[in-house]
Amino acid sequence: MRLSNKAEEILEYLWIMIREMGEERVSLKELKTDRDAPEIQELMSLNYIDVSPDSATLREEGMGEAESAVRRHRLAERLMVDVFDLDRGLMEENACLFEHLLRREVEESICTLLGHPGVCPHNRPIPAGRCCRDSVKTARNIVSSLADVKRGVKGRVAYLHTRDNKKLQKLMTMGILPGVTIEVMQTFPSYVFRLGHTQIAVDKEMATDIFMMPGR
Ligand SMILES: [Zn+2]
Ligand SMILES: [Zn+2]
Repeated sequence: MRLSNKAEEILEYLWIMIREMGEERVSLKELKTDRDAPEIQELMSLNYIDVSPDSATLREEGMGEAESAVRRHRLAERLMVDVFDLDRGLMEENACLFEHLLRREVEESICTLLGHPGVCPHNRPIPAGRCCRDSVKTARNIVSSLADVKRGVKGRVAYLHTRDNKKLQKLMTMGILPGVTIEVMQTFPSYVFRLGHTQIAVDKEMATDIFMMPGR
């Protein structure tokens, strides 16, 4: 089951305070939540956290999930700065949204694409994933721009690359998100592709901004 965004954010915050700042517990007030909040109930029912009257800590069972949420957040930040070339303010705004959209299947491809970065743009360490540990095996160019893909090719959206934040958000609201399955139906005069059950047409300029991993 997928965690709610709020629960993911609580896990991230706890992991940073405990593993990086050396705290043992974090007050619920600081987490901007309370014991009865759905995200706290969700995390307690999974045995990920331990809540005493007014503070919380991570249990061993929640460590892995929390570390992976921090990893996705910091990878999303790198993606914003390195690939989308967004400035800091826009990065913060989009990274929070993007990390929840960064599906696990594409997390490693994005990490590989970015060259397994060791730190985020704030210079905080990015926890290593499996791909970083055996990067030699996974280092291959598997991502192509939609504009270079032939008709009939199926795959998944890897990422979007545009320097224009409005365009980025437009593509995202069209449902063009990392991990979504995509099939190229037509490449001339416009680009038509199937995304799940819907067909979408874009011009060449837009198609250039969409990158996919064929054959997955
Ligand atoms: Zn950061
Ligand atoms: Zn990696």
